[in-house]
Amino acid sequence: MKLLLVEDELADAKFVKACLGRDKALTPEIVHAVCLSEALTHLEETDFDVVILDLHLPDASGEECVRKIKLTKPDVPIVVLSGEENEDYAIEILNQGVQDYLVKWHDDGKGILRSVRYGIERKRSELKLAHLAAFDSLTQIPNRNFFVDCLERAVSRAQRNGTMLALLFLDLDRFKGVNDTLGHHFGDKLLIAVSERISASVRDGDILARMGGDEFALLLEDRNGVAGAEATASKLIKVLADPYELEGRIVNITTSIGITVFPQDRGSPESLLKNADIAMYQAKSAGRNGFKFFTEKMQNRIVHQHRVAQEIRSGLENDEFFLAYQPQYRLSDNRLDGAEALIRWNHKNKLVMPDEFIGIAEESGQIIDVGYWVIEEAFRQSNAWCNTETAPPRIAINISPRQMHQPNFNRELQRLIAKYDVNPESIEIELTESCLIQDSNVVKDSLQMLKDFGFAIAIDDFGTGHSCLDYLRRFPIDILKIDRAFVKDIGVDDESTAICKAILSIADGLNKQTIGEGIENETQLEFLIQNGCQRGQGFMYSKAVVPSEFEALPVLEVSSGDRQYGARKKLG
Ligand code: C2E
Ligand code: MG
Ligand code: MG
Repeated sequence: MKLLLVEDELADAKFVKACLGRDKALTPEIVHAVCLSEALTHLEETDFDVVILDLHLPDASGEECVRKIKLTKPDVPIVVLSGEENEDYAIEILNQGVQDYLVKWHDDGKGILRSVRYGIERKRSELKLAHLAAFDSLTQIPNRNFFVDCLERAVSRAQRNGTMLALLFLDLDRFKGVNDTLGHHFGDKLLIAVSERISASVRDGDILARMGGDEFALLLEDRNGVAGAEATASKLIKVLADPYELEGRIVNITTSIGITVFPQDRGSPESLLKNADIAMYQAKSAGRNGFKFFTEKMQNRIVHQHRVAQEIRSGLENDEFFLAYQPQYRLSDNRLDGAEALIRWNHKNKLVMPDEFIGIAEESGQIIDVGYWVIEEAFRQSNAWCNTETAPPRIAINISPRQMHQPNFNRELQRLIAKYDVNPESIEIELTESCLIQDSNVVKDSLQMLKDFGFAIAIDDFGTGHSCLDYLRRFPIDILKIDRAFVKDIGVDDESTAICKAILSIADGLNKQTIGEGIENETQLEFLIQNGCQRGQGFMYSKAVVPSEFEALPVLEVSSGDRQYGARKKLG
């Protein structure tokens, strides 16, 4: 053990050496300094296990000694020796980060041994705690606390020196999927591999931290601002997208990065983090596996979304939402065959369409409450329409992925079915393809639950999502709704026409029903009928209308090859 004894009284030094020499286990190698400056020279040259420090030295006060020693070697334990029996002073010195305090010659020297041991042990646990407080235990890189400290210092440095800094916020794309399908253990391994790749791709002075989950932050100083940050970001995107070989498996994962540059984007360290986070989300919405710089416009969007989210909440409380129903017809004979419930918002005397708020509700999580409102209102209407002639035989309800995967969804549906005495066979649930790309066992269970209730399941906007047709085979799906984007171009654009034809033929082969969406003209309708589409909806028939208008809709008739629309005659 290497020990630095700083003591100007030679007799005292001798006594300490004698005491320490008595312990066979310690076998101390003692270096003796008689003043602070000599002690500091030794400390710079050698690593000591502990410093024993007299507080009365000729060249410095006690406080100064402690401060300078800690400045030179922050990790070395210090045990202080003093002749003063003043407890207040002892506490003051301990508060400065000294590990133990000993009043000279109170005992036979056993106290010194104990203090040295104790001092070393205490410093060790302090360092361990400091490490725990500043480092992420999984990846061993700095954690959020540490990063925020660094960022604060870097911002004031940049302010003082008129330099720039860039903050990159990284988030792995669909990391949850890896965790869910391959397990947390594997997810952890991947996070470690990712942190190692980032570390290896950045420069020495850059600070990388794990901010939690699959999020990392990177602080770049002294780079040429925007260009430097951009170069680093595109390099990282590339490096991180290379396949990972872990435990004999190959996995791929991509990353989205948000970047903010100071002082160009002004703000406190906290708001810089927020900026980078906002930009990261934009990178995700732009298709993932890329980076985006923060802009003022993004900020405004966030503010807008925040406001709308609040207004949705009060809208639910104030009954501002209602459902409009778009009729669906059986194409073979034009019989009314169903209705799709579409939400509308009567807000500040204006009609707000779902495209303006459903996305925001999804992001803010309010889609859950909105969705329950829709289900309840549609069930209520289904009950009210029950056994009336002018009513649609079934109602289709749009459900968002988030809602479907709610833990209570099952129980809540059951409650509402009972409350409104709904016949489940008169209900269709429309899901988008994005509902189906999650963990396939979970999806299967959720869909099976809907089937067990007796609902039919339709895939909405079919063909626009993740075209992995395998799910058609694996999941209990009844209906495919051909997206309006394809129907719109029937007869106009060869590719869209071909896609419609292909979807109809797939559906036929797999025994699924089809609904053509957004039928606006005779060409589209003819084509869909010719190619075996069973049902259709669109402005050519009717837009979505409130129930009272729905009941007054004209009944359609087929008069031998000559279809008439708008004939005012009720089915009787
Ligand atoms: P979607 O489920 O695909 O609904 C069809 C949309 O196409 C509706 O728009 C409908 O009004 C419109 N549409 C129908 N026929 C035609 C046509 O011939 N031409 C044109 N140009 N458009 C037509 P809407 O009501 O604005 O709804 C937009 C989307 O908002 C819906 O697309 C659906 O994804 C979502 N949405 C609507 N209501 C709800 C709801 O209650 N819950 C959830 N989660 N989403 C909903
Ligand atoms: Mg729909
Ligand atoms: Mg649709």
